[in-house]
Amino acid sequence: MGVAVHIPKNIVQEEGSGKQKIEKADHSPIQPVRRIVQFGFLFVILWIGFEFFLWVHQLEQGRTPTLTRPPGVEGFLPISALISLRYWILTGVLNHIHPASVVLLVIILATGVFLKKGFCGWVCPFGLLSDYLAKLHIRLFDRRFKLPKLLDYPLRSLKYLLLFFFVYAVFVQMNLFDLHAFIYSPYNRVADIKMLKFFTEMSSTTFWVLMTLVGLSLLIPHFWCRYLCPYGALLGALSWISPLKIHRNPETCIDCKLCTKACPAHIQVHKENVVFSDECNACFQCVDACPVKDTLYMSVTRKRFRLKPMAYAWILVGLFVAGTLLAKLSGYWHNWIPVEEYKYHVQHLHDPEYYHNRGAVPRYDEQKLRVPPVGKPMEHPPQQ
Ligand code: SF4
Ligand code: SF4
Repeated sequence: MGVAVHIPKNIVQEEGSGKQKIEKADHSPIQPVRRIVQFGFLFVILWIGFEFFLWVHQLEQGRTPTLTRPPGVEGFLPISALISLRYWILTGVLNHIHPASVVLLVIILATGVFLKKGFCGWVCPFGLLSDYLAKLHIRLFDRRFKLPKLLDYPLRSLKYLLLFFFVYAVFVQMNLFDLHAFIYSPYNRVADIKMLKFFTEMSSTTFWVLMTLVGLSLLIPHFWCRYLCPYGALLGALSWISPLKIHRNPETCIDCKLCTKACPAHIQVHKENVVFSDECNACFQCVDACPVKDTLYMSVTRKRFRLKPMAYAWILVGLFVAGTLLAKLSGYWHNWIPVEEYKYHVQHLHDPEYYHNRGAVPRYDEQKLRVPPVGKPMEHPPQQ
């Protein structure tokens, strides 16, 4: 019996010599653009962090800040955003304590639904750090280390367990009154300042935990993203329903495996006709590596609705810009906590009412904090 030989369909005759050759990929690599986008987001995040640091510093000195508080800082409050999102779904009220956190969460969820885990591959600063630690790993060890499947699979489920823990706590354990109490609590009002202190006044335990994670990500590339990040788990789960996927055309594929070698998520791209994996972060490294024209690409179906990597980049960045602009225009970007109130909070950050226990907050003075009735919107403060 003869052995079936796979002959790629894109073999063309060379002009003049008549020799047969493979049609080469003619797209320019997207990786430089991806780096520009990643560093662009990093710059914005660092700028926001710096402005916020100065703003808090001026408040702590008892001064009225000369800068405006940057609402983008609320992107670092995913749990508060999840609580506010559920409250919004249940009551139709998007609160004005941290509205930007919900806006950013919704934008990120939208990227997951439409653009796979593009947030991880193109936007997240921890994804960028992870990429560079992986590069350093390859330089140091001259290969990409991968845990055996026996360890890799159970460890990958850890991030889903963490995600389950948060979703269960917010969507099952907290009732409407708990959500309301949390959103308007002193703790939530200063959650952004507490997050800043987490980094600027880091305890030695936190420092060593972070160093351990960096070390593990150096030894096992993308350790944090692959095994622990609950955000990555959420986007990975959403990416299953994303219509866009990496497709491979088996008729033109020459089985060179360059795509698989390039994939940082250890996906066997050369064996898949469609990459369904929740680990695919739409980085397009496989597409850049593929040497054959029209063989590896992102599209909705194998033959229809192909999306060029550059168009993907524009749509992803456009979603963030458009979402932020829309929130600004509709008044859901800046929060409604007056500066005078912040001045009071920063002096009391260590009081017992500025803490919570798994979402349960201590009782606080609702009248003083202008807390609206459950399901009603907050009143705009007079001085803003
Ligand atoms: S399959 Fe391609 S796009 Fe997805 S993670 Fe791997 S290299 Fe990146
Ligand atoms: S890079 Fe992957 S998809 Fe492209 S020809 Fe080689 S094996 Fe096939």
